[in-house]
Amino acid sequence: MCPVCKQKIIKLTGWHNHHMVWRSLGGSESQENRILLHPNCHDQVHNQQLTIEKPRPPKGV
Ligand SMILES: [Zn+2]
Ligand SMILES: [Zn+2]
Repeated sequence: MCPVCKQKIIKLTGWHNHHMVWRSLGGSESQENRILLHPNCHDQVHNQQLTIEKPRPPKGV
């Protein structure tokens, strides 16, 4: 699932790895810091400097 457009990410759409904390700012390569986005959505994030938050399942209600 792409957090930008809320569409599924499949082989056909392709995907990019986005680092929530940029590598240049000390972000890690860990799963925690990476998120999958569509290539075009990824461009949007950078062009519009959007902040992406990792979708996390609600817990501890
Ligand atoms: Zn997308
Ligand atoms: Zn990125």
